[in-house]
Amino acid sequence: SVDEILAAMIAREKIAPPACAAGGRAKDGRKNGMDCIFCKILRGEIPSKKVYEDDEIYAFYDIEPKAPVHILVIPKVHLSGASAVSDENSGVVARIFEAIPKIAAGLGLSDYRIVTNNGPDAGQTVSHLHFHVLAGGKLGEMA
Ligand code: 5GP
Ligand code: ZN
Repeated sequence: SVDEILAAMIAREKIAPPACAAGGRAKDGRKNGMDCIFCKILRGEIPSKKVYEDDEIYAFYDIEPKAPVHILVIPKVHLSGASAVSDENSGVVARIFEAIPKIAAGLGLSDYRIVTNNGPDAGQTVSHLHFHVLAGGKLGEMA
């Protein structure tokens, strides 16, 4: 059935769960993004300040900026982080890296840093793949 196909795709992280799935039929909340903060932002359940959006990606201002300009760029599909990127889903990462220069140019930014933290020891606090775009001044050295 269509439902089974959808459930299988959600389980394989191919698509984000629809808003109507918020009642909770899938079992693994982490995998399907049911109680993922960024999936809630995507579903409009948590407000965010949008910078850019298309059918595959969403960009918004970080709630706790670590630079004068701090934007998060995320795929609409729930991927837990960089380690969940595979040959099956890496297209969206390319889309994100195509969008970032456009977003930056639109904000008049020529210089910026792109960061993604993978895993708690690296500082990842939200298990939904996201790229920090930091800009708007001289940034401290990091890597
Ligand atoms: P991480 O620490 O996982 O690399 O990055 C997560 C980022 O998400 C942090 O910079 C944090 O400030 C941001 N963040 C967490 N919750 C929210 C939220 O509800 N709204 C927005 N706009 N940013 C958030
Ligand atoms: Zn998510």
